[in-house]
Amino acid sequence: MSFELPPDAREWQARVRAFVDQDLIPWEVEAELNNGEIPAEARDRHRAAAQDMGLSAMDAPRERGGLGLSNVTQVAIYEGLGRVTNALGWCFSEAHRWMFEACNEDQIERYVLPIMRGERHECYAITEAESGSDVEGIAATARRTGNGDDGDYLLNGEKWYVTSANFADFCVFQAKIATISHDGPQDGAHALFFVDLDSPGIEMVASPLFAHTYAHHHPTYRFTDVRVPAANLIGEEGDGMAFSYAWFRRERLMIAARCCGAAARLIDAATAFAKERKVSGEPIASYQAIQFMLADSVTELWAARLMTYECAAAHDRPQDGGDDVKLLHARCAMAKLYASEMANRVADRAVQIFGGRGYMRENVAERFFRELRVDRIWEGTSEIQRLIIANGHLKRGLPELGVQA
Ligand SMILES: Cc1cc2nc3c(=O)[nH]c(=O)nc-3n(C[C@H](O)[C@H](O)[C@H](O)COP(=O)(O)OP(=O)(O)OC[C@H]3O[C@@H](n4cnc5c(N)ncnc54)[C@H](O)[C@@H]3O)c2cc1C
Repeated sequence: MSFELPPDAREWQARVRAFVDQDLIPWEVEAELNNGEIPAEARDRHRAAAQDMGLSAMDAPRERGGLGLSNVTQVAIYEGLGRVTNALGWCFSEAHRWMFEACNEDQIERYVLPIMRGERHECYAITEAESGSDVEGIAATARRTGNGDDGDYLLNGEKWYVTSANFADFCVFQAKIATISHDGPQDGAHALFFVDLDSPGIEMVASPLFAHTYAHHHPTYRFTDVRVPAANLIGEEGDGMAFSYAWFRRERLMIAARCCGAAARLIDAATAFAKERKVSGEPIASYQAIQFMLADSVTELWAARLMTYECAAAHDRPQDGGDDVKLLHARCAMAKLYASEMANRVADRAVQIFGGRGYMRENVAERFFRELRVDRIWEGTSEIQRLIIANGHLKRGLPELGVQA
């Protein structure tokens, strides 16, 4: 079985592949050797090209000016973007479908549509020092001051790993509702807020270095009595986790897609090298030990691609689980778990096939070896994905999960 891409997905695949191969990949080594930075002129050109292609609007509904692409087509796009290292593919912000469902008209005008037009850039402030896997356990608070829609919220808390904050002008901040008496009806309920990063009371307290070499940083921010209008609350008090889960599902699916793209590039590069590199007079591709590494990589990539595209197709087919959120949650977890662990194994083998060259930062295998590691951690670690899958399996069994007919 191979997954047959519909014609529009094939067209997007070719368009993104050309952009990645011709415009982005040639900048990888320059980015790697310069803390992730490339000349401003090149970065602006990449942003403009991504915007012109419509990447910012791929998930946004058509009635709001978006492209409303199917999940299968979006996976084809992200698979292509996954081929490039150093986050050079992160050259656009994206207005997600869940934002249009969660936000009111005023918020769509002020935040969501400007993302889609490439005018504003967002980041996400959810994780805290004591709460990563256990999102329910966050300590950040949102305390209401005043009454009605005219009131404000005071936000307090410290958020870690706020990815792309150095390119963003606002964040989505997750907090628990807090009342002074701790007995309000929504006390402790999760809520999400749009917060402009230039609001008084926001301080960047650290910007640690990470294993990858990205221009996008992951700083720590402290929020002290940051006043935001009630109009910035996304949905209702208590809706916070529901929106986060919708966003996790999409991110996990697209991480799986990117991992497939990365693995394909690594297999191509390692195969080309193995055919050319001679040791003891023979190309190393003629040695079984090398062939076995390639064979395992090809096999696992095939499996991961089938899972990822099938998971995307299930989102697009309401009658086949597309309207059953818990089922989709478990399938996205399986796709993310398998594809991210597959890509890490492929990267490890690619480094081995390249030998000493595979340990050089100028080599794609070395860069992906470091970069892909975080795909087993962010948007839910592999252990958390396994818990979600086991929970779905124990409650519903193989047929309902779509694993057995
Ligand atoms: C580069 C990077 C960028 C990130 N970007 C963002 C961002 O933009 N916004 C944001 O909000 N967050 C972001 N994160 C945070 C990321 O989502 C968390 O790091 C991740 O969810 C894991 O949380 P943690 O680091 O606190 O690990 P912990 O939760 O402390 O987990 C530590 C270990 O314990 C395991 N573990 C935890 N609970 C269980 C359990 N019940 N059973 C078995 N094992 C368990 C974990 O799997 C892990 O191996 C980013 C992280 C990184 C590294």
